[in-house]
Amino acid sequence: MWIRHAAILSAVSGKSETTRAAWQTLLEPLRAEPARTAILTDFDGTLAPIVEHTEDASLPDGARDLLVRLTERYALVGAISGRRTADVRALIGLDTIAYAGNHGLELMMPGDREVSPDPSLAGREGDAAEFVATVEAGRLDEAGLRIEDKGPIQAIHWRGVADEAAAEAAARVIAVDAGRAGLEPRWGRKVLELRPVGGGGKDAAVASLLASDGLDRVVYAGDDRTDVDAFRRLGELREAGELVAAVRVGVLSAEGPPQIAEEADVTVDDPAGWLEMLAWLAE
Ligand SMILES: [Mg+2]
Repeated sequence: MWIRHAAILSAVSGKSETTRAAWQTLLEPLRAEPARTAILTDFDGTLAPIVEHTEDASLPDGARDLLVRLTERYALVGAISGRRTADVRALIGLDTIAYAGNHGLELMMPGDREVSPDPSLAGREGDAAEFVATVEAGRLDEAGLRIEDKGPIQAIHWRGVADEAAAEAAARVIAVDAGRAGLEPRWGRKVLELRPVGGGGKDAAVASLLASDGLDRVVYAGDDRTDVDAFRRLGELREAGELVAAVRVGVLSAEGPPQIAEEADVTVDDPAGWLEMLAWLAE
């Protein structure tokens, strides 16, 4: 309810979708210097609409061709997702872009044959799965919570269950237990993710992707809490003078956190708005 209210407030205060002329002005320095520009995007809720079951997600028509055209023009195109790298790579279907999966715990640059796991997780890859195995199945079933095994991260989903509020309340209890077991709970859009403490994060992922020589302009789009971490890191890099331009694009939704609108430089109402921006960048 609070989030919905904040979305309405932000619309009233003029934080609703940015005009085309305004975002073109912000993105012009990127379009003018494609060899120095990275185009980074979240997947679910940003490039592709949210669906009830994550396995049913797919790229909108024309989005893959658009990404191909962007790879031909820009120095780096990358997808940064909470999904596992293999999963998001299969959904996008291109090996010419970079992937940072599991919120940055996995990295795969264009041309890489294998995924590189975040070395800080070594020895702790199984901690979240071990914890989830100790949660009584009855407790999960009763609340309608669904577990998704993402290796070092275990995701607990409740989108579409009969009583989402009760399911979220049950997830909150599990999050407390997970914290006691030494895991870090992270909340997303109708999902709780449990992971080993430290390492990864979309903030670390954007920094890794931008580490290549000569990249000093970036646009990043996202819709959820972990994207706010990336927004903040990009803001810091811009402040520190390491980036000439960093344009944070917030994809608005009723269930997303208010920080998406508050901390973005540009907002769009839905993934179609982001695709429109990408189409302009590809022209
Ligand atoms: Mg997302």
